Amino acid sequence: MGDGSRATYDLGVNRIAVIMALTAEAAPVIAELGATPVASTSPLPIQFFEATRSGCHIVVSVNGQHPRHGVCSIGTDAASLNTYVTIDRFKPDLVISAGTAGAWARNGSQIGDVYVSDDRFVFHDRRIALDSFSEYGVGSYPAAKARRLAEALGLKTGVVTTSNSLDENDDDRAMIARSHACVKDMEAAAVAYVGEMMDTPVIALKAITDLVDHETPTAEQFTANLALASRLVGEKLLAVIDFCAARSLADLA
Ligand code: SAH
Repeated sequence: MGDGSRATYDLGVNRIAVIMALTAEAAPVIAELGATPVASTSPLPIQFFEATRSGCHIVVSVNGQHPRHGVCSIGTDAASLNTYVTIDRFKPDLVISAGTAGAWARNGSQIGDVYVSDDRFVFHDRRIALDSFSEYGVGSYPAAKARRLAEALGLKTGVVTTSNSLDENDDDRAMIARSHACVKDMEAAAVAYVGEMMDTPVIALKAITDLVDHETPTAEQFTANLALASRLVGEKLLAVIDFCAARSLADLA
C-alpha cells in the first residue's frame, strides 16, 4: 500500500502530534513528558498538552469529555475532528494515533503487547454493497512505513482495523478475516483518513488491553488492563519520540 508519502518524506521529524481518545490512556505520557496544557481555541472539548523532548516539539491532543454524556469522546467522529484541528494548528511532521486496542489470541497476541501499524488502516463496520463504495467503506488509508522503528524498539507490527463498536459481530469478523488485521480499535482509521487528506504521515501505537477471542468479556478485560496498557503505551511513546527525533521519515521505514 501507500507509504504515507508527502513531498517532505526525506526531511527530519521535528514535530510530532499524538492523538489520544481516553484521558486515562494519555495521563502517563503527559506526566512523563512534563507536557503542559495549551489553551484551546476551538469549541470542541479537545485538550492539548505541549512538550519538547529530544529537540522535538510534541503535542498530545486528547479528544476530551463529551459535554452532555460526560464520558471521554471515544470513536471515529471525535478522532477525526481532533486530528483535523491538531494538524491544522500544529502542522506536525508525523501524527501518532496512540492508545489501547483489542487483538486476537489466535494471532499470538498477548495483553500488554504494543503494536505499530503496518501497511494500511481499514474499517470493519462500513459495509456498502454499491459498486466501488465497498472499497471506500474499507478505506485502506496508508500507514507510514515504520518497520525499522518497530524492530529497533521490539514492537510488533500489524494492520489496524477500526469501527465504532467495542465488540465484534459476525459481519465484522468476516471483514476482519479479509483484511488480516490484527489490532482492533475505535479511532485509528479515522485519524489516518484525515492524515491522508492533509498530506501528513500517520502511524498508530496501540497497547493491547483485551483479546477479542478470549472467553472473558472484552469490557471486563479492558477495565482490568487499562492502567497497565496506558503505562506501556506511554513508555513506548517516549521511545518512539526519541527514535524519531533527529531522523527522517525514511529512517523509520
Ligand atoms: N468503558 C471505557 C471506554 C473504553 S472504550 C472506559 O470506561 O474508559 C475502548 C477504547 O479503547 C476505545 O478508544 C478503543 O480505541 C480502545 N479499545 C480497546 N480495546 C478495544 C477493542 N477490543 N475493540 C475496539 N476498541 C478497543
